[in-house]
Amino acid sequence: MRPTRSQAAVFAAILAASLLASLAAGWLGPQVDNSAYDWTFRHHPPRDVRPVSMLLTIDEESLSAIHGMAGLRPALAAALQTIAPARPAVVAIDLILADEGEPAGDAALEAAMAAVPRLVLACDLVDSGRRWEDPIPRFQSRAAAIGHVHGDPGPVDGVSRIVPLAKAAGHNRRWALSLEAFRQVSGAPFVLESPDDLEVAGTRIPAKAADSRALYIRYLPASAIPRVSLAELRRDPTLASRFRGKVVFAGVTAQSAMRDRMLTPYSDGAYMPGIEILANIFETLDRKDFLVPASNLAVALASLLLAALAVSAFAFRTGWQAYLLAAIVLVAAHAGPYLLFGRGIVFPYVAPASAAWLAAVGAGSFQFVTVRRRLGKSEAETARYQQAMHFVTHEMRTPLTAIQGSSELMTRYKLSEDKRKQIAELITSESKRLARMIETFLSVERLSAGEMELKREPFDACDVVEVCLARVRPIADRKQIRISTRALEPAALAGDRELMEYAVYNLLTNAVKYSSAGTEVTVSVSAEGSHLRIAVADQGIGMDQNEVKRIFQKFYRTNRAVASGERGTGIGLSIVEQIVTSHGGRIKVTSAPGKGSCFTLVLPALMGERAARAPGQGSA
Ligand code: ADP
Repeated sequence: MRPTRSQAAVFAAILAASLLASLAAGWLGPQVDNSAYDWTFRHHPPRDVRPVSMLLTIDEESLSAIHGMAGLRPALAAALQTIAPARPAVVAIDLILADEGEPAGDAALEAAMAAVPRLVLACDLVDSGRRWEDPIPRFQSRAAAIGHVHGDPGPVDGVSRIVPLAKAAGHNRRWALSLEAFRQVSGAPFVLESPDDLEVAGTRIPAKAADSRALYIRYLPASAIPRVSLAELRRDPTLASRFRGKVVFAGVTAQSAMRDRMLTPYSDGAYMPGIEILANIFETLDRKDFLVPASNLAVALASLLLAALAVSAFAFRTGWQAYLLAAIVLVAAHAGPYLLFGRGIVFPYVAPASAAWLAAVGAGSFQFVTVRRRLGKSEAETARYQQAMHFVTHEMRTPLTAIQGSSELMTRYKLSEDKRKQIAELITSESKRLARMIETFLSVERLSAGEMELKREPFDACDVVEVCLARVRPIADRKQIRISTRALEPAALAGDRELMEYAVYNLLTNAVKYSSAGTEVTVSVSAEGSHLRIAVADQGIGMDQNEVKRIFQKFYRTNRAVASGERGTGIGLSIVEQIVTSHGGRIKVTSAPGKGSCFTLVLPALMGERAARAPGQGSA
């Protein structure tokens, strides 16, 4: 099936509308995209989990054991001293140590910091992001690096999915604490930068400069990262051995004192402590388990492709094939982001899915409507054809009966030469009439189907009227109806003479058919400027205005006409109208019930030299 031009235009409009709507939906639907991301995330858990990091947590129990936050620095110092002999790889402390504390505690912590290798300290943005809050100099001097612990919760739902690996306060830019920890483990002197990614000791990290070096955090399943609390370590110092070679993240996990907890795609409403998020960022880097967002261009192209496929399904196929193809496109639109996630690509869900849905629904309904319309049209066509066949068989019966009857007469009875001649002539004239009827019918059919061009030969209207009058007079005489002519002015016409004869003859027979004995039918041909008028007026049964409006419809007959007992098919005038309009003319009807009707054909007259050559010109 090939769509027509206008259908193709509608299909294209649907495509454009669905694309626009889907882009709008993609813009309005980050909530849906986020939920889809989280769902997909949970269904793609990282495999082969062997965490390199380890948490040193300050939980509720630890806090009460050290008498609250005031005792934190000496207690942390003691803990660091305990694990130092186990030689952890890196110790990252997620506490903002920006204020001077109690001198003995600060001194103890500084000493402990000196005891652990590769210390990374935290800083955070303050003053609405204008300034870094750094550790006091005595701690800073012990740190191998300082990294920011600024989280970036999703703007809509507060779920932490990405981390800005770089963050700047004015011109003062810091790498994320976990990236610094990773650099320390790798022994890289610095982080190498390119517009699209960062590089640390040969590991390329896809984090674009344009997106604040944002990186998707590939969270490990809950509790995958081992932890030891301060209180546990105090109770059992042998636990220190667990920290051997580990990247340690130390920080608060106690609900009451934790300031940096966040939701994660896994958490389902439960918050994850900041240090655990930091450890997960580190694991993402260490495992090189990177997720890369699809570019806007790729999303737009994929949406366009899906919408185009969905529209094409309905533009080029129908029925179950179209629905099947559209269903495949929809499944692809829904499964695409899921499958791409497995290949490390984060693809939005709403834009492509809504593009595919809108295009499929739009094109599907459009096809439904057009198919129905086409069905209706072909049904009407069939009905028309059947009616036409009915007309043909009905109209042809009369001459056929005459021919049959006459030939039977000739064979059965011995007839005089004169009679035989008369009957033979009748047979000839009736068969000619039959042939003419067939010719007229076929011409009109072909004309209305647009398959035939109208003949354009000049002829005289009066000639046509005279011929028709000669044929109709015997019928009129039989009904005792007088036919008079008025002002038969010679007037040239261009067109198909046969068809015009059919039209005039039809008006004349109708006038006779629908009039009663003793009345008169008047025929006139008059030229009026560039037009000529052929008028047939009768004093017959007439019609009211509603009936006049409908008489050119195929198979319509007025009740009056049916009641008159005259036989008719109700098709003649519809053919007359077609003939007249195809000659560039129109029909005027005036009528009143019981008074009579007047049918006037108004036709463009043939002017000038060609008119002079019209055969029969001036003979009437
Ligand atoms: P038919 O005469 O075979 O029924 P037509 O198409 O020629 O079919 O005419 C359609 C209908 O218009 C007729 O059935 C009749 O009701 C009405 N009609 C046509 N001509 C006249 C007329 N001169 N006077 C009254 N009614 C007419």
